[in-house]
Amino acid sequence: MTNIPRPEWDHPYLHTRQELSRQQLEAFAYHYFLKFLMFFRDQPEGSIRPGLEIKYSAKMKHKLGLADLFNHNIRLNYNYFRKDPALLPYTLFHEMIHIWLYNCDLDPGHTRRFYFKMKFFEATKLPIDQKVHIHKRVASEAKFVFTCPNCKNKWFTNSPKEDKRLYCGFCYEQSKEKYYPVKFTNHNRHSLGNL
Ligand SMILES: [Zn+2]
Ligand SMILES: [Zn+2]
Repeated sequence: MTNIPRPEWDHPYLHTRQELSRQQLEAFAYHYFLKFLMFFRDQPEGSIRPGLEIKYSAKMKHKLGLADLFNHNIRLNYNYFRKDPALLPYTLFHEMIHIWLYNCDLDPGHTRRFYFKMKFFEATKLPIDQKVHIHKRVASEAKFVFTCPNCKNKWFTNSPKEDKRLYCGFCYEQSKEKYYPVKFTNHNRHSLGNL
């Protein structure tokens, strides 16, 4: 099934047969990033943090995109998208959901809430990555969130135990100091009921 994008979501590069330059790709990603922001700002769950960086990586092999939650950036597969940019909006939206959920203190994984948000993308009729769809699984959200008292990075888990052997690897790398994550209750978690 081929989707035909709704006119306001269309872009000439979606139909190009030519290889795109890095500059064109950057403009393309930025165009969709700006348009998608309306789904990730002032939502009942919260907003994506400002300053999100979108970059292309020539090192990515197997994935089309990657959300770096700790460093607040999204990396896109340069060698894939320069030849075929049709799935770029899908990939970008997917990774933006991960970042947005994380910024809202919600489980950033492929949960039911994640796929509920994906429905907003489906309404644009932009091309969808069928491969990702096949692997679609509906997971429930992690019950607990732990946060590093120093850098505020978060971990999501179903285990309520505060494991004293686990310390923040990010901070340890920077300062060789061991910061132990602290559990906090996630009030956002049930805001959408039995989604
Ligand atoms: Zn994902
Ligand atoms: Zn830390």
